[in-house]
This record gives sequence, C-alpha cells and structure tokens, in this order.
Amino acid sequence: MDINKTQIEAVFSKYTESDRMPHAVLIEGSTSDARRYATQYLSRIAVCSCSTRPCDTCKNCTKALLGGHSDIYTAKTAGKTNSINIESIRDLIKDASIKPNEADTKVFILHDVDTSMSEIVQNAFLKVLEEPPQRTLFILTAKSSSRMLSTILSRVQVISLKNDDTVSEETQELAKNIVEGILSLSEVKLLYATNKLSTRPLFKEVLGVVSEYLRLALNISVGAKSDNEYAVAIAKKLTKSKIIGLIEITSKAIIRADRNVNMNLLCTWLCGEYRRISWLR
Ligand SMILES: [Zn+2]
Repeated sequence: MDINKTQIEAVFSKYTESDRMPHAVLIEGSTSDARRYATQYLSRIAVCSCSTRPCDTCKNCTKALLGGHSDIYTAKTAGKTNSINIESIRDLIKDASIKPNEADTKVFILHDVDTSMSEIVQNAFLKVLEEPPQRTLFILTAKSSSRMLSTILSRVQVISLKNDDTVSEETQELAKNIVEGILSLSEVKLLYATNKLSTRPLFKEVLGVVSEYLRLALNISVGAKSDNEYAVAIAKKLTKSKIIGLIEITSKAIIRADRNVNMNLLCTWLCGEYRRISWLR
C-alpha cells in the first residue's frame, strides 16, 4: 500500500521553519515504509541549508535524496535479528563528537530500536542522549516505543505516526465533502466543506486524506488503476496539471495550519485556491 507522504510530512511541519529541532526524535507507529519515509524527510529538514526546510533542491537535500550525504549516518546492524551492537553504538558516539562535514547538523539514524537494541545497548546509547553533542540529531524508529527504557524515552521527542486505517469516519466524511466540493460547480458546497475544518488537528488530518485521494488520482491519470471512487472521480474530471496544483496547495495549507494563522481565514483561502485551480480553463 502507498504511504501517505503528505500526512507524514505534516507531522514534521513544526520543525521546518524554525530552529525548534530537538536533539533526538523517536518515530513510532504505522508501517516500516512510513517510518523510513519519515526518517528520510526529517533528515533532509536537518541538513537542508534553506530557510524553508527541506527545499529538496539545495546541495544538501539533493545528496540526502540520493542517499549519499556525508552527515547522515545509519547505525549498522548485525546478525539475523538485525541488532545494533555495543561496538556500533561506540562508533556512533565517537562520530557524534566530530563536527558535521557539510551541513549544519549531523544526523544519526537508528532503525527499529524496539527490536534492534538490547537493554545493555540502550544504556550505552543513553550516555550520548544525556549530553548530546551540539549540532547532532538522533532519529530512532520503532513499531512501538513501549519497549524502550523510560530513561531513553524521557530524552527523545516521540512522534507517533498514524496508521492510515485509523482515519475516523468523521474525517473520511469531511474529506469526501471537500472532494465533492472541488468537483462541483457550486462554490457554496466547497466553502461549506472547507469551513467545517475548524480546528488545527482536524484540518491537518482531513487534508491528509484529501491529499491521499489526489495522489491516487494523479497515479490514475498516468495509467495506474485504483478502486478508490473519489480518486477515480477526480481523475475523470480534472487534468493532470490541475491535480498536481491541488496537491501543492494542500501541502501548503497543512504547513500554514502550523503557523498560528487564523483558521477561518485559512479555510477561506484554501477554498479560494481549490476553486481557482479546479475551475481554471
Ligand atoms: Zn535543501
């Protein structure tokens, strides 16, 4: 199943525009693909040299996207169980004390820590979390953080990714209304649908689903098959370039929602942008 990139990116939007990046983040939940995507996205935020991060075009982002950035380091695993051993943690601690090569921040990624790190290894790793070297970011991933030592958990920011199938009926209904509003010629319908997104979390969640429909529609427009009726309806009515425009506006809106803007104004703006793009000749 496709991962919902917009929904994942939205989770990290609080880190993209300011220096509020913590020293350590633990990404838990959803699928292993989703956690990997989240890890890569967060790494790019950390190394990007632009003011809106990640720009995905600067030298640092490009290298990160190609998987060859010298400041992004993944902890080695060994054996059948893919465990991270003490030596690997010692190497990592040594490396963390050295300044980044080309980016402002050095990134250390440790995958599946709930199964790959024994208690002894977690304790060894704890030392570096207690006094993290400057300009470092540790990204840990886990199916669930519940198996980690509380001493580790108290020193990391836990980010829980949503499972796509946990989207509530209310969210699905609101997302459906927005798609219908976009496809309808009645301005009132769309305005009514967008104005229902009154709170920030709801706004982001619903737009995450809308974005997923749009991405599926984009796939359909280039020949893929999908049985999602909303995606099919979008692909039938809108051109590929319009769908791309709608995806971009949706991402922008999710980022804006985190900037303390007035939600009524944001909903009205979004409605206007959706209309502008979908009704464009
Ligand atoms: Zn960049």
